[in-house]
Amino acid sequence: MLAYNKHKLAAAALGILIAVLPIYWFTNWLERQGEAAVSVAANSSIAAVDLVIGRTVHALEAVAGGGVDSCSPANVDALRQAVFTAGPIKEIAVLGPNGQTLCTDAGTAFTPRDVLATEATSDPHIVLDVVRAAHGEGRFLRVRVVVPNKPALAALLPRDALLPQLGPDGTPLKGAARLTLADGTPIATAGDETPIAPRNDHLIGRARSQNYGIAVAVALRQQGIVASHDDLRRIGIVVSAGFALAILTCALFLPRRQRHNPIAEIEAALVAGEFIPYYQPIVDIKNGKLLGAEVLVRWRKRDGTIVSPGVFIPLVESSGLILDLTRSLMRQVCIELGAAIGARPQMYITFNIAPRHFNDAVVLNDVGSIFEGSQIRLSQIVLEITERFEIENINATRRVIAALQGLGCRVALDDVGTGHNGLSYILKLGVDIIKIDKLFVEAIQTERHAQAIVQTLVALARDLRMQIVAEGVERMDQVEYLREHGISAAQGYVFAPPLPGSAFATLIDAINPVAADGEKSAAANKGAPALGRLSAA
Ligand code: C2E
Ligand code: CA
Ligand code: CA
Repeated sequence: MLAYNKHKLAAAALGILIAVLPIYWFTNWLERQGEAAVSVAANSSIAAVDLVIGRTVHALEAVAGGGVDSCSPANVDALRQAVFTAGPIKEIAVLGPNGQTLCTDAGTAFTPRDVLATEATSDPHIVLDVVRAAHGEGRFLRVRVVVPNKPALAALLPRDALLPQLGPDGTPLKGAARLTLADGTPIATAGDETPIAPRNDHLIGRARSQNYGIAVAVALRQQGIVASHDDLRRIGIVVSAGFALAILTCALFLPRRQRHNPIAEIEAALVAGEFIPYYQPIVDIKNGKLLGAEVLVRWRKRDGTIVSPGVFIPLVESSGLILDLTRSLMRQVCIELGAAIGARPQMYITFNIAPRHFNDAVVLNDVGSIFEGSQIRLSQIVLEITERFEIENINATRRVIAALQGLGCRVALDDVGTGHNGLSYILKLGVDIIKIDKLFVEAIQTERHAQAIVQTLVALARDLRMQIVAEGVERMDQVEYLREHGISAAQGYVFAPPLPGSAFATLIDAINPVAADGEKSAAANKGAPALGRLSAA
């Protein structure tokens, strides 16, 4: 029980670990995806700003190269044309020696006090200013190109030209972006009102321009980073839960599989009473009456399947559980057929006893104690010992057999003809009955040596006052042969297969009615039905 719980706990812990690992891994993966996305956004923003500044510088240099060095009407026209063709530039101005605006294409005049901050660039001819517009239009980035011995030219870039309000996919930016000078002076912002500060649900990426003293910070809402972030997380959780469930299910089945230990399974089946007796009738082939039955064990499993003994008897014998199994069968026979057999003193019931059960007094004690209070007399008990296997201690076995006979029981030598001991067991053990194995019964019609052996056994049995039972009789011609050669008892499918207790009880009532038993048997035999073919249903 303790081991069972330990297994369950360990498996549950493993299940939880395996469930948590994918969630941990998945969350990590999402974070890395987010960091990568926000870094790409910041870098592409700064690259776009760089491009706009670069083009503006190029346009200003073109204007200067075109000879614009004063505020003549022709020059102002040239400024207008440049603004018209150079993209996002709002205005171009010609500046005086102190930086004051001499003239612009649109006429707006900036005074030096509108310049909020100035940033030199890696190119000494290019200077960036953050300027405030005259009519409350917000801030502009002013790109100034200083040409030696000539008035400087300056272009105003509006906020939208620097930081687009839309994301790369055309939808509103899922977060915020801020463009500043390298010293932090704000130039422009885009996106929602979110302040660019570390927050749980935002990821922040920063990038600096390689060419100009500007920087971009981008804050993206985490949810928007991976398109189906939530769906993916849900899938991750479901997969993790599936893992956990699978592990837990395995854990629950683990102890079951442990019980698959066949010996433990047999022990449990013994306790649960799953080994039950079946009864194969032994028939008097001269008159069709029932002489008795051989008890053959069946394993009736919990699901109702019936397992034949060939599958489990070898293990039951080698594990030593055979003693308990035999006792259990004897007790069950007493309970289910004690009255029926006790009422018919001529009938006997045979049990297969493992050879090791004959080694000491165990079988004597078992038989004595189990049948003591039963209606079944000890004279109705036959114990079968097989000659199929070598009998280890023949003298001890002989003594146990004699003691059993002293109690009134009879002993049968089973499977005669299959062992390698010839007639020695028959001669040495002093049994009461010999059971000719079905191999010989099968062979008597076809093989001469089988007939010779059967005849020898019949003669020997007569001399030693033993009875003979022929096993595995399947056809009527075999019955005929056995009857003609002096064998009067037989069992086999030609009469009946091994039957459950209830079917055998019905059979006893039909074939050997109690009133007809005993001294009136001869008369009753005429009236009672002879045994035909039956099924184990
Ligand atoms: P066994 O003692 O020689 O039992 C006779 C076997 O022959 C039984 O098989 C029986 O069902 C089968 N049989 C009966 N009539 C015919 C027939 O006409 N044709 C053929 N082909 N077979 C027939 P089962 O019941 O499967 O038992 C097999 C063996 O298992 C038994 O052979 C016996 O050695 C062992 N066994 C059965 N019950 C017990 C038990 O309670 N204790 C021990 N120790 N062994 C048992
Ligand atoms: Ca037998
Ligand atoms: Ca047999």
